[in-house]
Amino acid sequence: MEISHVVNDRVNEWCCTKCNKQVTNNIYGETVPLNDIYERINKSLAQLARKKAGRPARVIQKAKAA
Ligand SMILES: [Zn+2]
Repeated sequence: MEISHVVNDRVNEWCCTKCNKQVTNNIYGETVPLNDIYERINKSLAQLARKKAGRPARVIQKAKAA
């Protein structure tokens, strides 16, 4: 198994190097098959992670100045 996509600190999508089967771990730490539902969940988790990685302090300063 190889990580195919890092979703956030806790969640990764994995791909089998032999048969290309895709799995992911969910927020409970369980390994589950990567189906449509988990793809959608992971997409929103990744979006949240990106927002958190931004610079909220600077955004707040800009908002005050405006
Ligand atoms: Zn396999």
